[in-house]
Amino acid sequence: MADGTVTGPRWSAPGTRDRDEIERVRAFRAERAIAHFTRLAHGGTDRHCPICGYHGPFSPVRHKPEIWCPSCDSRPRHRLMKLWMDREMALPSDARVLHFAAEAWVRPEMERRGALYETADINDRFDRVLDIEAIALPDASRDMIIANHVLEHVDDRAALAEMARVLGPGGLAVITVPVIEGWDTTDEDPSLDAEGRRLRYGDPDHRRFYGRDLRDRIRVAGFTLSEFAAVEPDVSTHALNRGERLFIGVKPRDEGVTHG
Ligand SMILES: [Zn+2]
Repeated sequence: MADGTVTGPRWSAPGTRDRDEIERVRAFRAERAIAHFTRLAHGGTDRHCPICGYHGPFSPVRHKPEIWCPSCDSRPRHRLMKLWMDREMALPSDARVLHFAAEAWVRPEMERRGALYETADINDRFDRVLDIEAIALPDASRDMIIANHVLEHVDDRAALAEMARVLGPGGLAVITVPVIEGWDTTDEDPSLDAEGRRLRYGDPDHRRFYGRDLRDRIRVAGFTLSEFAAVEPDVSTHALNRGERLFIGVKPRDEGVTHG
């Protein structure tokens, strides 16, 4: 049973189990795990969505419980960005904002703040068809570029350089990507095929899993960096991923001045 009060079978001592008993151990533990996840999947705790205002239990995505807003379909990284927008984002009223692979909730938020907001991607489902590796826009023609979970799909060095070029002085590159903070360096292997990428990066369309050196890649492109992290009590209140970060590259205003 799954009520947490029933003790399990008494197994033979570790290391002495025969094949049949090992199979029974595996089946028993799988049943326990499924029962545990079934409870989690229905969501036991009320959360708050800062995007749509919903208050109540959240939904699971695959093996991750309580992370999907059942009212507006926001994910943790979207709610993290909304908190950053509400608390820290400084945007001039006529800011020119370009959003790659945009989520629909961002447009009203930006337009409410007076931004001139456009979406873009390599396909034609957005306002503009643009390749983030070679953005067909003039230098210094935007004040903010948003790229949530885009850089892991592309040549990120080219994309970051292009974002830096297209942003004007003081402009912001707002970036989220999957990061393994326990890794010093990014894992990427251009020789992998689709199955190899699925195994290594969790998705055949991903080219890498970033390590902490993601920050160096952003800086090398010409940005100074600030970060906005998912910490308590926001993690519990808004169902964020603990420690997930929004990376904000700031294009320096004093470009051309030599340092040190
Ligand atoms: Zn919501």
